Amino acid sequence: MTAAFADKMTWLGHDGFRIDAGKTIYFDPYQITGGPVADLILVSHEHFDHCSPEDIAKIQGPETIIVTEKDAAKKLTGDIRVMRPGDVLDLGDVKIQAVPSYNTDKDFHPRKKGWLGFIVETEGVRVYHAGDADFIPEMEGLKVDIAFLPVSGTYVMTAEQAVNAALAIRPKLAIPMHYGAIVGDAQDAARFKKALEGKVDVRILEKG
Ligand code: ZN
Repeated sequence: MTAAFADKMTWLGHDGFRIDAGKTIYFDPYQITGGPVADLILVSHEHFDHCSPEDIAKIQGPETIIVTEKDAAKKLTGDIRVMRPGDVLDLGDVKIQAVPSYNTDKDFHPRKKGWLGFIVETEGVRVYHAGDADFIPEMEGLKVDIAFLPVSGTYVMTAEQAVNAALAIRPKLAIPMHYGAIVGDAQDAARFKKALEGKVDVRILEKG
């Protein structure tokens, strides 16, 4: 089921993804050319490469729901639902859990900001988007099927640290992100995949 569901996911570059399940769900759209109108847009935090009003405008319709944290919410308009880590939001066929996302050895994403990762459950599959995070203790034992994990280093964890995160989370499928745009490149994704061979399935998505 996880592999079939993964076929419904498109990597939009950097931390951006679209899931075309029953609902059209976007995560952190950035530098996109457009796409199907969103039912739901999840914005992890206020930084420009995650909260991009200009990109959101390309996919936002009158019925689109945006789920984000308080700082990003100030930059956006429409039907906005503000969440804090630990909050849950039940939209019927999509359930969203906001989880912590922060740095442990750098200051770009302080824990006290309350910025977000997300666990989205739809069609019986639980998808985790880590946001801009290091390997944080809250990742231990997350019950998720698919995990989007940053691998670039600098503002987030390195590929090697992301390997440890994947081993702690043990998703059925891990997908590297946060490379190829601001920092990081395909080598980071490749190192992540190679180090997890035989341990956690990794799929490197082509940018679509
Ligand atoms: Zn950031």
